[in-house]
Amino acid sequence: MKPAPPAPHAAGYHGDDRWLLLWAALIGVVGALATVAFHEGMAFTERLATQHPGSLVSAAEALAPWRRAITPALGGIAAGLFLWLAQRAANGRKQLDYLEAIAVGDGRQDVRGTLLHSLSSLCTIGSGGSIGREGAMVQLAAATGSWIGRIGRFDGDDLRRWRTRRLLRRHPIPHHIWRDVTQRAVALRRLDAVQMAHLRELTTWFLDRKSITGVRGLEVTLPMRVAVAAQASLLILNLGAEYFDGWVEVILYPGAFRVSREEVDSSGLVHNEDRALSGESWLRGPVVLSWDDVERDTYGGRAGCNVVLHEFAHKLDGLNGRTNGMPPLHRDMSREHWIEAMSASYDALCLKVAAGEPVFINPYAATSPVEFFAVVSEYFFTAPDILEKECPGVYRQLALFYRQEPLH
Ligand code: ZN
Repeated sequence: MKPAPPAPHAAGYHGDDRWLLLWAALIGVVGALATVAFHEGMAFTERLATQHPGSLVSAAEALAPWRRAITPALGGIAAGLFLWLAQRAANGRKQLDYLEAIAVGDGRQDVRGTLLHSLSSLCTIGSGGSIGREGAMVQLAAATGSWIGRIGRFDGDDLRRWRTRRLLRRHPIPHHIWRDVTQRAVALRRLDAVQMAHLRELTTWFLDRKSITGVRGLEVTLPMRVAVAAQASLLILNLGAEYFDGWVEVILYPGAFRVSREEVDSSGLVHNEDRALSGESWLRGPVVLSWDDVERDTYGGRAGCNVVLHEFAHKLDGLNGRTNGMPPLHRDMSREHWIEAMSASYDALCLKVAAGEPVFINPYAATSPVEFFAVVSEYFFTAPDILEKECPGVYRQLALFYRQEPLH
């Protein structure tokens, strides 16, 4: 959240598409064959377990009571055995399901592990156990696709690059608009040509995936959309588009907007808050911005002030499910160092603000650790020299998190 500053108006691979299509069709057909094989396998194991044609119900009716009891038990033991083998084959590695493999991995799936899991499912289903069949079929089809992908030597980056190229071809940002916005936007002035090209890709992706809607009669033009998307994308320039997963909407008000809501404080008292905001960011929901403030911060360039960076930094903070001033840190970062650097600067700032002493950054940062992270992120990109001079520890941690060095 960011309160509106006092202002008179603040009242309110393989490159070729055809080849890729052919590979996709082949993977679809082979995946479908794998599910057909699984389906036939179910019928086969049922017959094997019950030695009776027909449905499981009619087979069970025809079985002697002792066999009716022992068949699922034996099936369960066989299923457990396959799971044990799958676990041994995984050798401590976590078996990713197909969505995880794409979202957090490189799309590779453990084919042997999936086969053993499928055999385990077949033993359970064939002996009368009640487990989902579709999940196993989808997983098997996905593993088959992953296997063909490896044979065809596709790698995840290849596909991502292909997707980006296609996106840039289909929804290009007109050059004059891109040049005009990025040359005037203060936060983007430090980028070199390579970074700028990458930012353009990310911005195009952002405009394709997120909706930017004007309310209260605000007509949102392409340069306005580019200004929001490009600055938001600056935060994830070296992080990746997936850091903005989980939400789709940006709402633009013409100016500062009033919100009125009840809040319960730590003592249980309910306050009715009514205030003007220049932006706010909902966990898993939209980012709401005042265009007046976006425009002023984008082109006016008050050091350390940028509502777009502020609200989208909250989005990164909330990636681990709650906003607490600490986004999910990278593996090569130390949680202790982060907390140490952030807490020391935050505590010192709070003391100064309480004592009425002058402070070097927007005192709004002293509201909470959540706002502190958002405000220092604004400084990191728009006034890194001030942040580095006054809070070198914070600057260092942000450089590690954003994987950027705005001062160099
Ligand atoms: Zn905020």
